[in-house]
Amino acid sequence: MGKRLLVFLHGAFLSLGKAYGLRPGRKGRAGISLPVYQDEIMKYACFDIGATNLKMGVVDENGIFLEYESEKTPYTYEELIKRIRDFSLGNSCSAVGIGIPGNVSDGSAYCPNLPVLNGHPLETDIEALTELPVSVENDANLAALGEYIFFETESTGNMILLTLGTGVGGGLILDGTLVTSESAAFEVGHITLNFNGEKCGCGKRGCFEYYCSMNGLVRSYNELSADVKFLKAADVYKQFKIGDKVAELAFDKYANSLAHGMASIANLFAPLKIKIGGGLSEMSDAYLHTAVKVFSKIVFPALKDKVVIETAAAKNRAGLLGAAALCMVHG
Ligand SMILES: [Zn+2]
Repeated sequence: MGKRLLVFLHGAFLSLGKAYGLRPGRKGRAGISLPVYQDEIMKYACFDIGATNLKMGVVDENGIFLEYESEKTPYTYEELIKRIRDFSLGNSCSAVGIGIPGNVSDGSAYCPNLPVLNGHPLETDIEALTELPVSVENDANLAALGEYIFFETESTGNMILLTLGTGVGGGLILDGTLVTSESAAFEVGHITLNFNGEKCGCGKRGCFEYYCSMNGLVRSYNELSADVKFLKAADVYKQFKIGDKVAELAFDKYANSLAHGMASIANLFAPLKIKIGGGLSEMSDAYLHTAVKVFSKIVFPALKDKVVIETAAAKNRAGLLGAAALCMVHG
């Protein structure tokens, strides 16, 4: 299969809402108030398969969660697909959307951090088990898609979502279109911040991910601190909250790296919004203000004051919302 682009026109989305009798104007704000249904609406079985946890949700076409569960990711492929089948059929869903920490190429999953999926035709296998339409996509792409469909208006044509966590990933919406993982585009974690920097697993040096992942933050703290050493980003954040100067410095360094990464990406795609998701988005009060300040100084002048940078609204359920959006556009 070649490069595949999914088109998400908001006009079409609104038509879809009307077709199922949603109250006009309800679209676009997941989880704020309960919708008024005039007819039965579609509900989707949504999965976010992580290296540690398997998140599962039943999400309706209005972005409302009807069910949510999280459990340890099964150890074997057979257990995993059985769990997906049981959850999907047990909740009488009309389609299945799945996010994976990797991509799908020629029908097979490739996930460097989740070998249990590697080489398996996940989409085909779940379709055979459930007899439902199944769509699979990269988890960061789905987070971007969910954020775009459920929390943005049609005027946000170009949007980027960065997931800052164990690694650095992201999803790109260009003119209302999600650039999917089959194209292997938008590996934002591996743009170069410092070509003389440390070697990355991808083969280059000084990648964005090296500095802006959780490990990058912890490494900064440990380099700056003469005595106390930490293993987790959450520990650095705790220190920041109690006024530790070293933690403040580590977050400033982090903010500076983040700003440079974001400016490079913005210069390429001119997004109206950059949204911050992933585990580190929960610590954004420690770095986002500084990152925005630095960003506005270094971004290409024509983009100055034109890019809104904010934390993602969907929090840790963004992937599941994106899986629901994927089901909707795939029909
Ligand atoms: Zn790299």
